[in-house]
Amino acid sequence: CGIVGYTGGRPAQDILIEGLRRLEYRGYDSAGIAVEQGGKLEVVHRKGKVGGLAETVANLAIAGTCGIGHTRWATHGKPSERNAHPHTSCGGHIAVVHNGIIENYAELRDELASRGHEFTSDTDTEVVAHLVEEAYVDDLLQAVREAAARLVGAYALAVVCDAEPGVIVAMRKDSPLVVGQGADGAYVASDMIALIDATRDVVVLGDGEAAKLTPEGIRYFSAFGEEIYEPKVTHVDWD
Ligand code: GLU
Repeated sequence: CGIVGYTGGRPAQDILIEGLRRLEYRGYDSAGIAVEQGGKLEVVHRKGKVGGLAETVANLAIAGTCGIGHTRWATHGKPSERNAHPHTSCGGHIAVVHNGIIENYAELRDELASRGHEFTSDTDTEVVAHLVEEAYVDDLLQAVREAAARLVGAYALAVVCDAEPGVIVAMRKDSPLVVGQGADGAYVASDMIALIDATRDVVVLGDGEAAKLTPEGIRYFSAFGEEIYEPKVTHVDWD
């Protein structure tokens, strides 16, 4: 339902929680974040309100400066803590948040299970984390592109991995994602409203397009994998 991501110079957790609060108006049944910390992904998810998640996260005080967050509106798998995003691969090396529906998730799940993948949720989303893990060699963007090529359905995705600290890969098809550079880092969200405190200049990703966010900046890629050097910037002037 709602996606936020941040990588930059500030601790990510409060930025992610604030972004999720801004997306609350869309409705949701659970929420969670994944933040990189010392080469590991710290994942926290809760059924219910962002307020509950915020309390847990405040106590953890994760210092990491790159992370992703999600508010879920369940389509596959009941609303529960185990089904809340972010979803991770077997070793916890990859974390994924997803809006939309993966229509061929049952086939993908059977295929992945036959290769030894163990699933910890009932969602359609979790297959994405396992596909990215299988495809990963040394380039998260490439792995997400390969995983996405297997998906049928609608998706907006934000993905992080422990092997590439500071990197968020965002990709979408038939579900919105916007990306923007703030003064203190790079942001991604499913709705501009989550970004307006950080920047008024956003890039609306097109179908099949991807963005690679790092603390140094944002790179954009076409559906064919070619870099887009001058993406179209949309200025948001509402309050
Ligand atoms: N289909 C996914 C799920 O049920 C994502 C739903 C959403 O867009 O929040 O977990």
